[in-house]
Amino acid sequence: MKKQIEQLSAYQPGLSPRALKEAYGIEGELYKLASNENLHGPSPKVKEAITAHLDELYYYPETGSPLLREAISNELNIDESRILFGAGLDEVILMISRAVLTPGDNIVTSEMTFGQYTHNAVVEAAEVKQVPLNNGHFDLEGILNAVDEHTKLIWLCNPNNPTGTYFTHEELKHFLNEAPSNIPVLIDEAYAEFVTADDFPNSLALQQEHANAFLLRTFSKAYGLAGLRVGYVIAAKEAIEKWNIIRPPFNVGRLSEYAALAAFEDQAYLKSITDYNAKEREKFYAIPQSEHFYPSQTNFVFVNTNRPDALYEELLKVGCITRPFPNGVRITIGFPEQNDKMIEVLTSFDY
Ligand SMILES: *Cc1c(COP(=O)(O)O)cnc(C)c1O
Repeated sequence: MKKQIEQLSAYQPGLSPRALKEAYGIEGELYKLASNENLHGPSPKVKEAITAHLDELYYYPETGSPLLREAISNELNIDESRILFGAGLDEVILMISRAVLTPGDNIVTSEMTFGQYTHNAVVEAAEVKQVPLNNGHFDLEGILNAVDEHTKLIWLCNPNNPTGTYFTHEELKHFLNEAPSNIPVLIDEAYAEFVTADDFPNSLALQQEHANAFLLRTFSKAYGLAGLRVGYVIAAKEAIEKWNIIRPPFNVGRLSEYAALAAFEDQAYLKSITDYNAKEREKFYAIPQSEHFYPSQTNFVFVNTNRPDALYEELLKVGCITRPFPNGVRITIGFPEQNDKMIEVLTSFDY
């Protein structure tokens, strides 16, 4: 095995609801609000699409997800050759890292962001430069300053997981103007659909002006298809063609493609989900204790506390499984009943 893999560990899922109930003696239902999934599930059209194609399971999928590719390229008005699909963004991140990084290279990203950028860089024996957050926000200037002649990838997450914060169109535009044009800037927008801020980047427009900008999107979060694994990157055709060489030919499953297509075509349903989320999110920020929360543009809220384990346990006791971090707890916005219970806890908690 590659030596550098010894310093990593496999992904650690939290305890299952059943194990948690036993460990904490909890009665009643437990809701999993730890992974930012859409509890409402996908559009009902998804079930119809999957059912209609159930008899095709013995066929391999069509390589390159052509139906989904056509739908997305038509909607976004971009050439079909500029999209690469993965089994979730996790696989997209893996493919990019594998295609680009060699020992001695480095990546630049932020501390407290999505862990897979670092994980995959370490597998390729690349160095990782993590720039500290600036009050919960990406420090884009700090990231620019950390870039050196060995930098091969720059990873940005907007809005950021786990903080929920974002950077604006002007900030991203400035960043892309300043960043060396030969280094890919990867902009992970896994939560873009939930954003309500007017000054959020039109990153597709910026991508058209900067051939080194890459846009990552997923069907796992707002579209509610985390279980089927579909994500994609939009980039210049030349980069996509190269990365496509290492893509496993049948990486996106047959039913996954049909499901993502049905979800993508039901934008009215997506809007109902994001409207709901915005409304529930506001309830969290209506309490004075929200001074402890980073401002969120996503379907989760990061609560700062130096007693994360205590807060995690109090939330468990009202039936909610959240995600503890060393300096806080990340809460996925759930159904109104759970949100109200969590807000009650957050109102009385001793931070
Ligand atoms: C959830 C998440 C992903 C991974 O999404 P998949 O498409 O399910 O692999 C990528 N980036 C961020 C920031 C995420 O939160």
